[in-house]
Amino acid sequence: MRPVPRLPILIGLALVALSAGPARATGTGATPAATAPGVAPAASLAAATFAVDDSILNAVALDDSAGTDSSATDSAATAPAPVARDYVGEVRAGFTRESRAYATTRAALGFLAPVYGILVNLFLLFSGLSGRMRDIARGLGHRRYVRILVFLILYSAAGLVLGFPLALYDGFLIEHRYGLSNQAFGAWLGDLAKGEVLAIVLFGLIPIVKLAYDAIARSPRRWGLWLALGTLPLIVAGALIEPVLVDPLFNQFKPLADQPLKQEILALAARAGIPAHDVYVVDKSAQTKTYNAYVNGIGASQRIVLWDTTLSGMRPDEILFVMAHEMGHYRLHHVWKGLVLVGLLGIVLFLLAQVIVHRAIRRWGRRWRFDAADDEASIPLLVLTLSLLSLLAQPLVNAGSRYFEHEADVYALEITHANDAGARAFIALASQNRSDPEPPRLLELIEYTHPPLIERIRFAMAYRPWERGAPNLLYGETPAEP
Ligand SMILES: [Zn+2]
Repeated sequence: MRPVPRLPILIGLALVALSAGPARATGTGATPAATAPGVAPAASLAAATFAVDDSILNAVALDDSAGTDSSATDSAATAPAPVARDYVGEVRAGFTRESRAYATTRAALGFLAPVYGILVNLFLLFSGLSGRMRDIARGLGHRRYVRILVFLILYSAAGLVLGFPLALYDGFLIEHRYGLSNQAFGAWLGDLAKGEVLAIVLFGLIPIVKLAYDAIARSPRRWGLWLALGTLPLIVAGALIEPVLVDPLFNQFKPLADQPLKQEILALAARAGIPAHDVYVVDKSAQTKTYNAYVNGIGASQRIVLWDTTLSGMRPDEILFVMAHEMGHYRLHHVWKGLVLVGLLGIVLFLLAQVIVHRAIRRWGRRWRFDAADDEASIPLLVLTLSLLSLLAQPLVNAGSRYFEHEADVYALEITHANDAGARAFIALASQNRSDPEPPRLLELIEYTHPPLIERIRFAMAYRPWERGAPNLLYGETPAEP
């Protein structure tokens, strides 16, 4: 993920989605440049609310390396298929001690990073720093727009400083230690800074937070609802602009031209009914050595993006399977469905947040040096409340994500009939990305946006309805199919 992995969208404060592209696609941590969600303030503004992976929000990816792969539904209960090679044994054998150490660290960070972000915000409140930043902002301007913009800049700076150790470890040190990135420190730092500036522009310069605070001031009893409703168009707008305006700030995207395999990938896209100009290659090798691909954007901005690492590292039939999986996300409208899921959940979270914020202010407002929710010193409180609620909602969002991922696997098998290549692709992902193919069930339920790779391998080997003349479940009604 990138530093700002999520493009915010909060309603005014909230946020969402930037995950970066490719990244989150890796968003989940897979990518080296990832910032711990909720740690840096401005970014946390964004990330806070929905710490959703981009998998759901913005990008639907093939694999979360970060230890997030998991299995959701298992319709794989079909008849056991003949297995040429012992792929399950291979993927287990490929999960080395080193990879296990990495995956365990990632899983721990999945809990620690959001908690750390919440602690940073608590510190800003209880230390009085938030009140002091508000005083400085008021000294510089009377208009709410200026006050909030200044506050957000200070908040971002404070968050960067306080969150830096974790961001450094999570986004840079651990990836280098396990040989998953070559990115130079300066480049990583540049991505981090870009992410913060982007969050300030998106939330502050564009007066999103200001509008949210106007709503809080005008409607002290209903603002949770207004913010929730206001977030919906922002989520959609964020998903729309992300591939076009945000992702190119961090990586270069090229149409799939002059690449090996180009004709085969485009032929597959044609069979799926996807226009060739919606298929791109991104230079993720600048940030990571891991493999991935993803779909993000909606409507006219929707696109399938293949990481150049995948293109150069995987075998051709495995790459085709990976692309078929992404085409499944595209054709099955998973980005839209994810937005709806997050939008509905967001309404609940904002309504709860309103209650919590008011109660917290009544209880601790004196110590925090503000007594109303529309005081901009309450921004850290709102962010931390939304972070906490979205952390609690994460298992639900991840269950939805795992369901979509399984559907994309079904689609990929149905359009390619490449069971063997699919299984090998999952082995390559597990091995290259140091993903735990068989995580503990509880961890899967809480953190994994994808089904565990071992489940996906078993399903890839077993699922072949066409061999008994049974109809496909998902592929077949595309425009390209007569
Ligand atoms: Zn996927």
